[in-house]
Amino acid sequence: TQSTRYRGRFAPTPSGPLHFGSLVAALGSYLDARAANGTWLVRIEDIDPPRCPPGTDSTILRQLEAFGLTWDATVHWQHDRHAAYQQALDRLAALGLAYPCSCSRKQWQPFPVYPGWCRQGLRDPTKPVAWRLRSDLATRPIGWQDRLFGWQQFDPETLGDVVLKRKDELWAYQLAVVVDDAAQGITDVVRGFDLLDNTPWQRQLQIALALDEPRYLHLPLVVTPQGQKLSKQNLAPALADDEPGIRQQLFQALQALDQAPPHELSRAPVTTQLDWAVAHWSVARLAPSAHRELPQES
Ligand code: GLU
Repeated sequence: TQSTRYRGRFAPTPSGPLHFGSLVAALGSYLDARAANGTWLVRIEDIDPPRCPPGTDSTILRQLEAFGLTWDATVHWQHDRHAAYQQALDRLAALGLAYPCSCSRKQWQPFPVYPGWCRQGLRDPTKPVAWRLRSDLATRPIGWQDRLFGWQQFDPETLGDVVLKRKDELWAYQLAVVVDDAAQGITDVVRGFDLLDNTPWQRQLQIALALDEPRYLHLPLVVTPQGQKLSKQNLAPALADDEPGIRQQLFQALQALDQAPPHELSRAPVTTQLDWAVAHWSVARLAPSAHRELPQES
């Protein structure tokens, strides 16, 4: 059947342990895949080692297991995917869609986005280069039908020539995510609203590399009462590692996804909560607003 072709993924950057906001994204992606009888994969996006303390990846995997979010197949890691990313970049360069750029941010600082000075050839061939994607040659406008937020469209030139490979030779998220979503046969991207405005670059890359377009569902982002995205910096409350705490946070995550779980589930084991949530998963219940407030301690 159509539904069993579904392949979803949760793709955390292991820069810190999961917090309540990343739990909500993981849970939404998991439920959408399981309710469709699909495959759910985990990909560790560790392309930026200086940002990823050793051991954080295994902490994240243990947290997912503790919340009952078990994945299919083996975990996919980005740190050893250099050859695949380079191949994609070479293809874009051969198509004339990617170019090396030696400019520093200081030089183009007065402009809203990098003005594309190196598109016709390097300004300074003695300097290290970043590789950028040409926005002036993109299909326009770039759009997609978001399952929650409806039709989204952006003008590529206002987004600028995004970096694909950095001057320090590290791969950029935009290129790695597109190459790996395609390599893993991902049909459905379910992730936080904070990544909605990255999607046009990813669509641009998919079009340029002739890759299939996945369906997109951006989920409301959990924010602090001051309206900030949860992060280590604003002291996002840690995920529980004790059974009563795990049960309570899973229940709260279902509430944050507007699934209206019945109160009697709030202290139920994770498998009971997840069985209920898979059986009742409804994207139609999600309110299309960008933010959700962090639940109060109870
Ligand atoms: N690695 C990204 C993050 O943790 C998410 C990638 C994605 O879901 O596309 O923010």
